[in-house]
Amino acid sequence: MIRYLFLVAFIFNGYESVAEARKSYKAHVHGHATLGISVEKPTILAAELVVDSASIYGFEYAPVKPEDKKKQKEGLDKLKGSALELFKFDSSLGCKLTSATVTVIQESKPKKKVYGYSRRKAKLSSGEHSEVKASYSFSCKKPLKGTKLGFGFSKQFKGIQELKVIPLGKSDKTQIIENDVGAVEL
Ligand SMILES: [Zn+2]
Repeated sequence: MIRYLFLVAFIFNGYESVAEARKSYKAHVHGHATLGISVEKPTILAAELVVDSASIYGFEYAPVKPEDKKKQKEGLDKLKGSALELFKFDSSLGCKLTSATVTVIQESKPKKKVYGYSRRKAKLSSGEHSEVKASYSFSCKKPLKGTKLGFGFSKQFKGIQELKVIPLGKSDKTQIIENDVGAVEL
């Protein structure tokens, strides 16, 4: 299900196929995150975030220097550790985080001609973009349906200004949350 959510998020981001994947890094808008959410059982919420790495740890290249590695680790740890501040459930629901995983998807370096650009040009533009994928599962004591879910992404990560929330199977209910203002109904 988590994998499916991720695919959905990809499609809604405008990614059409694997062949388009490299293009997607250039297409992602910095500061704009996509969040797929799904109520899996009455009391369980699964969520998957896709966001440019710069919004999480300040850069998108693959870190080599120790200070960059440290920054990356801090950002990724915060994405996991602050889950209950990123997802604001009604406190009466008694929700707990049951799992959180984060992955960095680094842009691969083009080997040949890419999209008509010369090798040299492609090389110059390679390695600049990456994205972070974070998957969460929450378990609550009471049913989630009909309750409001708020967000704290912009508060925790200054780089995130906009969150596109896509309920699984209900893309017509997609909502844009700017600077944590507003909530979605589960
Ligand atoms: Zn980027």
